[in-house]
Amino acid sequence: MASSRLARVAESPTIRIANIANKLKHDGIDVISFSLGEPDFDTPGHISDAACKALYSGETHYSPSAGIKPLREAIAKKLQTENNLNLDASNVMVTPGAKQAIFEVMMSVLDDGDEAVLFDPAWVSYEPCIKFAGANPKWVSTDPENGFLPYDIGDHITDKTRLIVVNSPCNPSGGVFGKDKLKEIADLAIDHNLLVLSDEIYEKILYDEKHYSIGAMEGMQDRTITVNGFSKSYAMTGWRLGYVAANEAFLHDFQKIQSHSVSSATTFAQYGAIEALEGDQQPVEDMVAEFRQRRDILVDGLNDIGIHCSRPRGAFYAFADVSEYGDGEEIAEKLLSDAHVAATPGSAFGPSGNNFMRLSYAISQERIREALERIENCLL
Ligand code: PLP
Repeated sequence: MASSRLARVAESPTIRIANIANKLKHDGIDVISFSLGEPDFDTPGHISDAACKALYSGETHYSPSAGIKPLREAIAKKLQTENNLNLDASNVMVTPGAKQAIFEVMMSVLDDGDEAVLFDPAWVSYEPCIKFAGANPKWVSTDPENGFLPYDIGDHITDKTRLIVVNSPCNPSGGVFGKDKLKEIADLAIDHNLLVLSDEIYEKILYDEKHYSIGAMEGMQDRTITVNGFSKSYAMTGWRLGYVAANEAFLHDFQKIQSHSVSSATTFAQYGAIEALEGDQQPVEDMVAEFRQRRDILVDGLNDIGIHCSRPRGAFYAFADVSEYGDGEEIAEKLLSDAHVAATPGSAFGPSGNNFMRLSYAISQERIREALERIENCLL
């Protein structure tokens, strides 16, 4: 029997869809999948070369739990220059993926009965991490007509609130928090003495605007925990590399969990990450340019079919309102069974996601066009 800790966490509603998709694929059916949470591009060659070089030169031993020093220094420099964060290498810990960093943060800062504010919809793993830590999510609605930005946040803060989770650009909505919204959240955090976990993993996949880090705002340095990683910006999902930056007292706590669980991130992979940060950034720009074209094809196509979808401002997901045709789970199942198009039901991302479906445009323009035809034939 599972532990009570595990019993708090529900199985993801995506599993049923994934099972149908797997069965169809197994039967030789051509399924077009919008369900991937990863870029379909390969890691740029210069990054792989740097990791291979490290591997062949013997960087195959344990690394310090917090990560190799040159990578922590490179991350600190990046956070200073690109994100205006006032910190150095002693404030940075490398983790095996941003997900592990988020898990460590939740386990470190949340206690039984605490509350953590999540904006609805939110990435699927925040809520389970909060619950593993014994705390409860406090969902705050967002406005789909206004870039999926949260409103009335202050009404959801209680004397149990400990943490606000900010994810800009957002998975699944593609919403982006501008300076004003971040300032509103920063003011609340300061007034109520709260921490902010800022997950900035999509910061470089942004179409028309600049990224702001809430940790750089006045009064936020010591109450912000910034998480980022290499998976999305550099197409390095399988490398399992992320990082967390915060004041040293927090870092000490995170490191306690990391050193007694996963020990550290993979040593030679960390040399690839230095090259990712310091080497040629053109591949990132090329990837974002391609995502932009795909976004426009997908969003225009969905709206033409009558599926209302606002244009995401960041990340590579479209969060489409399918309520015209049914609820998100029904439509996801129908599209998969009848049109062989896989998407993720919005209910996976929060309590009000039922009218929505998330479509990841990490597939080629040609496949997006073909999928749109299939969707149209299936629904109209
Ligand atoms: N945060 C968000 C919002 C994500 O979408 C993901 C991956 O899907 C992660 C964190 C985890 O990324 P990583 O591959 O670095 O663990």
